[in-house]
Amino acid sequence: MSTAPDLAALRRRAIDAAQRAYAPYSSLKVGAALQSASGAVYTGCNVENAAYPIGGCAERAAIASAVQAEGAAFRLAAIAVAAFARDAEALPVSPCGACRQALVEFGPAAQVSFRQPDGSWVEVEADALLPWRFVLPER
Ligand SMILES: [Zn+2]
Repeated sequence: MSTAPDLAALRRRAIDAAQRAYAPYSSLKVGAALQSASGAVYTGCNVENAAYPIGGCAERAAIASAVQAEGAAFRLAAIAVAAFARDAEALPVSPCGACRQALVEFGPAAQVSFRQPDGSWVEVEADALLPWRFVLPER
């Protein structure tokens, strides 16, 4: 069953997920909420660590949750990302390069939504965020 993504609902869930972020080092709290092709919604938040490089992004946390629930059949239909500063000010943040690669793995045509600097939300296909993504060559 396929359900049309409700981006407004995903944005609200992403905002909620950001409140649970563990970001004591950057104070940048990020939340992500995705809808799978099945219609289910999964969320994630960033989780930092004192050993900075092992910290994880909200988008990939949400993807991991979706794969855990749906297995290899998981396909991404849409994802919203929201970020906040220490003082709860909403910030414009788009998915990082690693997350863009992760998004196109599961949904090149997925709708990706995040805030622009003027505070409005942009909607763009995942493929447009990483047009020259890595693809494992077939041999
Ligand atoms: Zn990322």
